[in-house]
Amino acid sequence: MKQVADFFRKLLDTSDWPPRWHCGKWSEFHGWLYIISDILVWSAYFAIPLIIIRYISKKHDARFIRVYFLFAGFILACGSTHFFDAVTFWYPVYRINALVRAITGILSWITVFYLIKLLPVAFSLRSSAELEAEVEQRKMAEEKVRNLLETLERKVQQRTAELERKNKELEQFAYVASHDLQEPLQTTSGFVQLLRKQYHGQLDPTADQYIDYIVQASGRMRILIKDLLDYSRIGRGNESRPVDCNVLVQEVLADLHNMIVENEVLIKTGRLPVLNNVFPTELKSLFQNLISNSIKFRKPGVTPALFIDALQTNGYWQFSVKDNGIGIDEQYLEKIFVIFQRLHNRSTYDGSGIGLAHCKKIAELHGGKIWVQSQPGVGSTFYFTIADGAQ
Ligand code: ADP
Repeated sequence: MKQVADFFRKLLDTSDWPPRWHCGKWSEFHGWLYIISDILVWSAYFAIPLIIIRYISKKHDARFIRVYFLFAGFILACGSTHFFDAVTFWYPVYRINALVRAITGILSWITVFYLIKLLPVAFSLRSSAELEAEVEQRKMAEEKVRNLLETLERKVQQRTAELERKNKELEQFAYVASHDLQEPLQTTSGFVQLLRKQYHGQLDPTADQYIDYIVQASGRMRILIKDLLDYSRIGRGNESRPVDCNVLVQEVLADLHNMIVENEVLIKTGRLPVLNNVFPTELKSLFQNLISNSIKFRKPGVTPALFIDALQTNGYWQFSVKDNGIGIDEQYLEKIFVIFQRLHNRSTYDGSGIGLAHCKKIAELHGGKIWVQSQPGVGSTFYFTIADGAQ
């Protein structure tokens, strides 16, 4: 212990040894070769950590920072041993020299320990050739995906064009068929009505009943054909223009005045937008269908209450018509938008089952869609969107 205490007390004391020049027989050449070599090694060992630190400070994403610092410290310590070796030629600071060597030894082993610990990670690192190969592979895969996407885009475009063409054909067919069917139907129903008028009571009661059935059925058929014709006419030839939805909804409510008064309907509307580019007749028909359905499918014994509102979302206007009616079972939420799909028979609620198909076509005509949220016995909210900027 005493030796250790003496060592640190006399750390700068040089009196115990002669300067190295006077220790043994040094020729000038031998001594200066030793000194200059030590100084060269020391200066190089001093420069390397500076380079390492500069590298770390520039390279923010460098990994293994702690090892870099450890390495810098270790090289700096190694360099210092050479520096003190040179110094001892004039000042025999052998104690400091020993201390620096001890520190160097400890740092060296800590570095060795860290390197061993890092070895598995270092092995897992890929060489630049491997990385380049991977980049190349990825580029090729990306290229493949890009090609596929083009091909796919082209196929989708083709399919869309084909679907549009088929849709147009179908619409044309529905239009022509319903248009051409009107004339023979009118003739049939005209003559059946004439038959009833002129021969009622002259045939037997069963014949009278049959004639009544034919009159009713041809009436229904006339409505169906008219609905179908209207459906195939949606968007045909009409011009789009700016529309104030507040005014449009008030017009619909005025048209439905009797129905609203008879059913004592409570109606609230939020602030509706002015749309730039819509088909007014179609939009009116959409609101009319939704509002009249909300009243038609009211809950018995409950005052019908409607709330019509709109909000802007993701470049669309989203409208909602909310009621407190009979609601719709979850399994039918999509089915009801299909043409001629009804959930009730005519004796319970009249209708032809085309109203919501109309609404769907109109929403799609405006680049939007339609859907419903409902709870049986509580009510339904119909939503539809219109892709149109507000003025
Ligand atoms: P229709 O009213 O002629 O039956 P729609 O296409 O307008 O035809 O509606 C289809 C079906 O959707 C209706 O038969 C009804 O069952 C259901 N439905 C539509 N609107 C509502 C509503 N507001 N509340 C409850 N059910 C509704």
